[in-house]
Amino acid sequence: MDQIPYNCISVIQISKILTSSGCKVFAETLLGSDAEKKYDDDIDGGLTVFCPDDDSFKNFLLNVDPAGGGGRDENHTQLSTSKRQKKNSTSAVAWEAGKPLVIEEVEVAPPQAMEVRVKILFTSLCHTDVYFWEAKGQTPLFPRIFGHEAGGIVESVGEGVTDLRPGDHVLPVFTGECKECRHCKSEESNMCDLLRINTDRGVMLNDGKSRFSIKGQPIYHFVGTSTFSEYTVTHVGSLAKINPAAPLDKVCILSCGISTGLGATLNVAKPKKGSTVAVFGLGAVGLAAAEGARIAGASRIIGVDLISKRFEEAKKFGVTEFVNPKEHEKPVQEVIAEMTDGGVDRSVECTGSINAMVSAFECVHDGWGVAVLVGVPNKDDAFKTHPMNLLNERTLKGTFFGNYKPRSDLPSVVEKYMNKELEPEKFITHEVPFAEINKAFEYMLKGEGLRCIIRMDA
Ligand code: NAD
Ligand code: ZN
Repeated sequence: MDQIPYNCISVIQISKILTSSGCKVFAETLLGSDAEKKYDDDIDGGLTVFCPDDDSFKNFLLNVDPAGGGGRDENHTQLSTSKRQKKNSTSAVAWEAGKPLVIEEVEVAPPQAMEVRVKILFTSLCHTDVYFWEAKGQTPLFPRIFGHEAGGIVESVGEGVTDLRPGDHVLPVFTGECKECRHCKSEESNMCDLLRINTDRGVMLNDGKSRFSIKGQPIYHFVGTSTFSEYTVTHVGSLAKINPAAPLDKVCILSCGISTGLGATLNVAKPKKGSTVAVFGLGAVGLAAAEGARIAGASRIIGVDLISKRFEEAKKFGVTEFVNPKEHEKPVQEVIAEMTDGGVDRSVECTGSINAMVSAFECVHDGWGVAVLVGVPNKDDAFKTHPMNLLNERTLKGTFFGNYKPRSDLPSVVEKYMNKELEPEKFITHEVPFAEINKAFEYMLKGEGLRCIIRMDA
């Protein structure tokens, strides 16, 4: 073992105390001289030990010989998970479309092959959760546990999981990366064949069943993450392992909205220095797209939103001009074309409104303009524009998660925060304890603030 990643709340799973000396010494150091007895008394499926943060213990961990069964090696992690038990979890269940979530005691099954059980510490609300909870233009699937923007710590891992261990800090992502399919192997795509976003699936891939239940009744998953829950089970490919020094209450919002908006501009629209960019929708995703335009050196960033009070906040994110389509007689694409001598160089749509999608496309300059769609449409929406708009050499693109590969790229987005190149704090306008999760929905429905952090321990 080269180096044991150690941090102050490192968690060790012990599943079995072998009589081999390395293992015994390790267990006794963690649990005291009666380690074997404690093991026999307490546990059937493994014991979680929180390591003390002291130097002699750190040195001990660093010197453990993996061949001696020292608890941090691959074998031990495998062993520790084979008999994992169900866990009780406080979770927010959506029983019916549009009805307040109910905090319930939910049973969370152990992770199966290639799955991971995660203790969620912080989660936040993105508009995608709200669309599927309202289920007005989407397929309803209830009862369900929503949530996909979050940060947590690996609690246990299933068979075959080798690159995550209990104690690792992770961000769950709604669209995964198996690392083996054609998409994962392509430099251009993040649309993993196995784990790409699927909003209609409410079960795990392994056995087509849910890991959540209340008195035997299954509760459905949402986009493979279901983070409105103290414990959740995800496929290993839906988790990005991040720097344990990154504060999860801040970087949790990088697991969806902020990376999506930022990547939509930087990775997909790719504005050149000095260009003009229009951003439709000034929620967290749109403002992250504006932030991307600012980083790329755009000279004008035109913000478009139906709520004028969004404009003041948007100035902090580099938006230089504002248009509220409701205040104009003409279609907003014409207003923007007039402001920019024929159209913007790039536009990024972050609203979910089909009208805004068409406007975002039709407001880019002919000859070179590129429009990127990010908002999630209703299931029956159809995009309608005259083909001449395309023949005139405009480009229309769309993206999930800003074209980032979640496992490969998200850790480096977190590093941007650690290097102070990104300030997710600017997006965090509210915070509520888990018991008041419905307040986060109210803020979003009223268009108040940007992101509301939901603290699971409060
Ligand atoms: P939000 O509700 O905070 O912001 C959306 C903003 O769009 C609001 O300010 C709203 O007033 C504005 N808006 C709505 N209709 C408009 C219109 N016709 N013209 C101009 N502005 C309009 O939502 P958010 O969390 O920032 O998410 C934005 C969108 O991005 C949602 O559709 C969400 O589902 C989607 N999303 C997509 C991805 C992806 O990977 N593609 C990831 C996350 C979120
Ligand atoms: Zn894949």
